[in-house]
Amino acid sequence: MNRPFLPHSQTDSLDQALDHSLPQSLPRAAQPAEPGTPEDDSRGWTWQMKHAIRDHRQLLAAVGLAGHAQPAAGLGRHVPAVGTTSDSVAALPAEIEFPCFVPPALLQRIVPGNPADPILRQVLPVAEETADVATPGYSRDPLAEFASGVAAAERLEPGAALDLPLAVETPAPRQWIQKYSGRALLITTGACGVHCRYCFRRHFPYPAAPQQRTRWQPWLEPIAADPTIQEVILSGGDPLVLSDVSLERLLNGLRAIPHVRWLRIHSRMPVVIPQRVTRDFVELFPDFAAKVMVIHANHAQELDDEVAAAIERLRAAGFQVLNQAVLLRGVNDSVEALEGLCRRLVDCGVVPYYLHQLDRVQGAAHFEVTQAEGLQLLEGLRRRLPGHAVPRYVQEIPGQPYKTVLA
Ligand code: SF4
Repeated sequence: MNRPFLPHSQTDSLDQALDHSLPQSLPRAAQPAEPGTPEDDSRGWTWQMKHAIRDHRQLLAAVGLAGHAQPAAGLGRHVPAVGTTSDSVAALPAEIEFPCFVPPALLQRIVPGNPADPILRQVLPVAEETADVATPGYSRDPLAEFASGVAAAERLEPGAALDLPLAVETPAPRQWIQKYSGRALLITTGACGVHCRYCFRRHFPYPAAPQQRTRWQPWLEPIAADPTIQEVILSGGDPLVLSDVSLERLLNGLRAIPHVRWLRIHSRMPVVIPQRVTRDFVELFPDFAAKVMVIHANHAQELDDEVAAAIERLRAAGFQVLNQAVLLRGVNDSVEALEGLCRRLVDCGVVPYYLHQLDRVQGAAHFEVTQAEGLQLLEGLRRRLPGHAVPRYVQEIPGQPYKTVLA
């Protein structure tokens, strides 16, 4: 993956390969897997990572929008056309720090020729991201996760931030973040199975995260030393891009800490690359009193039959599956779109748990839906859906110990 990656020295071969998103050796099943099953390596999750689209021009071409001077009208002021000259063939500035990354499994759910496709809009770098850098109220660290880094970034000229190496402008964040009393959130990796253009961690200095992902002990010791921590949240990046070997070591380490009773994983992988949820994977998890997988889908179109099957495998393995969505302009900012998402989630056995107000991260201002609009949308949802299918509309406010419920 082109995003800043973790340096490594003695990682297992699969992690090492994924550091470059170019796995050199894929795990081999003892028996040939049936084509199309989660164990079928020929189109499995490592293949998906390796073959992800990494450039907005390739993405536009792949969805039949090459040559459109304005392929995504309303998405960006000037989305460059593929195959033209001068500025239009250069990478967008926003892609330099936060590259395009779209795996084939998600690409196949984008409707070709539709510039307003709700999945395309989430993953296509657009020129507006650069202009958004100067939007008042937006910062590189909207949740103050590396507060001293914000101070450094704010000294930069608007627009300059995207061109500077992360290591220079953002000091290392705390290595693991305890956000709430009794809960520890562990940043396990900087890699993801997709790059969402609205991501609040798009500027996060991931190189400071754990560097040797087969050696978790230094990260477990602070958790083991604090008996008030009952729940551990694995976050990232996306923890499910770690290999089974690496995850198993981490999980066994956590299970050996008696006061850690609940495990929560935040992952978009079951949605963007459902092939990640193999039978081997779901057997990795030791018994915790509660196992929660918080997935992330923003539109019903993301939840195809393969995703539904992956969710079913998670549920069969004892996971409670919740969804968190982000309210996004042009993606799900209508009652119809949100209703479709919630109905599909419930059909798949997923609780539509949170609808987040956009975190105000530089580069994402064009996605913002106002809070007043959001409240109206929630009112509309309540008129159409039973209470269990209506998400809580929430906002993260830096410095607040828990999410603020807006509706
Ligand atoms: S998968 Fe999650 S962490 Fe990764 S880019 Fe998308 S929103 Fe951000």
